[in-house]
Amino acid sequence: MVLRGPAATLAGNPFEQPSRGCLVTHDDALVVIEDGIITAFGPHAELRDTLPGGVDIVHYPDHLLVPGFIDAHVHYPQMQMIGAFGAQLLEWLETYTFPAEMSFADAGHAQRVAQLFLRELLRAGTTTAMVYCTVHPHSVDAFFTEAARFDARMIAGKVLMDRNAPLGLLDTAQRGYDESLALIDRWHGRGRALYCVTPRFAPTSTEAQLDAAGALLKTRDGLFLQTHLCENPGEVEWVRELFPARSSYLDVYAHAGLMGPRSMFGHGVHLHEGDFCTCHQSGAALAHCPTSNLFLGSGLFRLFEAVDPRRPVKVGLGTDVGGGTSLSQLQTLNEAYKVAALTGHKLDAVQGFYLATLGGARALGLEDRLGRLAPGMEADICVLDPKATPLMAFRAGYCASIEEMLFLLMTLGDDRAVRATYVAGRCVYDRERTGDPFVPVLPREE
Ligand SMILES: [Zn+2]
Repeated sequence: MVLRGPAATLAGNPFEQPSRGCLVTHDDALVVIEDGIITAFGPHAELRDTLPGGVDIVHYPDHLLVPGFIDAHVHYPQMQMIGAFGAQLLEWLETYTFPAEMSFADAGHAQRVAQLFLRELLRAGTTTAMVYCTVHPHSVDAFFTEAARFDARMIAGKVLMDRNAPLGLLDTAQRGYDESLALIDRWHGRGRALYCVTPRFAPTSTEAQLDAAGALLKTRDGLFLQTHLCENPGEVEWVRELFPARSSYLDVYAHAGLMGPRSMFGHGVHLHEGDFCTCHQSGAALAHCPTSNLFLGSGLFRLFEAVDPRRPVKVGLGTDVGGGTSLSQLQTLNEAYKVAALTGHKLDAVQGFYLATLGGARALGLEDRLGRLAPGMEADICVLDPKATPLMAFRAGYCASIEEMLFLLMTLGDDRAVRATYVAGRCVYDRERTGDPFVPVLPREE
């Protein structure tokens, strides 16, 4: 199968080189796909004669082909409390999050929410996400089962919590270990699923459980780690009280063996220079979640400090729904721009799209297969519509360059600006399709 249309993809890191040189664009490109992998990408004029006769070409002349978006931090069980009023992190967890996650004791509920969540991701053009499930193992089964129906490259894990949460959401260090190990055996590397060891955050895990998480990471190759870090001042203070022997919040995780090149720490709003150095040295990444940090009043992430080329920390872009207010990476970039502005920086469109695609892939250590339109990459592709609304269509008429168009998309765009989403070379979502716009590639296992 072949996609044709205007296309843009990152080829370098615009936080380390001039943005212009990092963006590859073609006014009329072909993306050639075989068995879910991109085999050729380039101008139509150069590639058209190489195509075999009768090949199926889908043409999007008024759109923009970009790599599928990567969401580095999101909670699927929190869809039912997105946009809940009036609390900062710790009160918000008590009031909204824990009750929502309790409802996942019902496996049928988990299945229904997983179905909705996968569709909302694809509607937003997101093809890979690093996902928190709940403490219930069946919440992971529900998520990966639904992801497999779309053959989507997803990373997820069972939340580990053995203290400071309601009884119904607690495991123990041993039970959390055993249940995680069983899930790793069942899902890690099955199809496109990858497993992520997932202690929620230091306050809800004992030292024994954090150590068990570190031990889990050593049980298989290629496992991921996700947790939260320095999101809110009250949380940072609490961690200081709970772990008086540790020199910092990050040191709690380092001590448990949780730092590494596939570790993703959500937020990192209140980190110090020493923490950035520790992340850089270990290869660990941070998930920048601007809509969440603004909505919960957590603070302003210092992106440009984090990616300082003298000791760059890898950064991905996270929606953090339900603390975040949108599953759209375009809306998330809209807020990332404002957070950068409030910290004295300008996040340009190339840097923004880097965070949502190639930068996210690098933060996850998956840049050998995700994040770019290029031969050898998995064919996860988002088809953007820069004229999705009357205002966007009007404004687009005044865009003089593709960078301006990208900036327009990240400022005014949301799920309405996603025309179609391709996963492993198959169109799984098409806004214009009559009836159900979603097409799973595998039947539901009953
Ligand atoms: Zn989160």
